[in-house]
Amino acid sequence: MFLVFTFVTALAVGPLLSLHAQQFPTRRLAPDVFAVMGDTGRGSEGRPNAGFIVTDSGVVVIDALASPAQGERLVQTIRSATRQPIRWLVLTHHHPDHHFGAIALRRAGARVIAHPDVSTGVDEQSREAAESVWTQVVGKAEMRGFAYADVPDVPVTSADTLRLGGKIIVIAHPWRGPAHTAGDLIVWLPDERVLFAGDLLIEDGVTMVVDGSSRGLLAALDTLAGLDARIVVPGHGAVPAEPRALIARTREYITGLRAAMRTAVEGHRSLNRALDSLPPADEGRPVSLHSRERRNANRVYLEVEKEFMGLDGGP
Ligand SMILES: [Zn+2]
Repeated sequence: MFLVFTFVTALAVGPLLSLHAQQFPTRRLAPDVFAVMGDTGRGSEGRPNAGFIVTDSGVVVIDALASPAQGERLVQTIRSATRQPIRWLVLTHHHPDHHFGAIALRRAGARVIAHPDVSTGVDEQSREAAESVWTQVVGKAEMRGFAYADVPDVPVTSADTLRLGGKIIVIAHPWRGPAHTAGDLIVWLPDERVLFAGDLLIEDGVTMVVDGSSRGLLAALDTLAGLDARIVVPGHGAVPAEPRALIARTREYITGLRAAMRTAVEGHRSLNRALDSLPPADEGRPVSLHSRERRNANRVYLEVEKEFMGLDGGP
């Protein structure tokens, strides 16, 4: 049931995308490195960001968006920029809005690099059920031709370097455990100092830890900060002017939430009372900002309670 709760209205609140193969807006981050911009300003309710890197030996794509139709539009967007063949698709994690378009990239010739842990939550429903729920979110037309395509041809569980056409592309699991999800990967271009962070960073909302771990997220943020990126592409929202500021803001949010929940646990305040200080969740909008803040708080309370009772060694 988890995905129902997370995503059922994630995209339904916005206008349905046109099915015509329009291109998505792109932003050039460095020579031959592009961000494909999502619905900036709508947080996790909007279409996420993606990206692509053009080399003399083919194209590497980062994330596949939320449906085969969106994946096809992504292919069109890439084809409008280069005639190079699409060689690789790297998935930053296995949430549907980032990979349900993967089949379109595969059909265009891409092989998939991803973390092999495709689970997205402890109480995750089956892959079949997730597909049918997601079809309700984006509509049947958007999902035409869908098949799962996120199981990696090349699994990455720590760090690997892809060298293609003179470009160095580092693909890494940012931390040895779950952070945003169990299957997070980041894409780092050391020469250009460009980082694709997936949903570890959300510019127009807050990063979710419901399928991951708040302590893990803090550890992952250390990894991101250590790279000292010139440009960072978050999973959702604008490319921030100051990568460090977005990392710091994310850290402050998680640290503050952990401290508040720790105080509640130590003061023997119930989960419900601990959540009282937060704005109410938005009815029918499980990934709206207020709903996410509340769900994160709920999750962090349980995490901190476990730590407090010494049941979780953690990082
Ligand atoms: Zn996500």
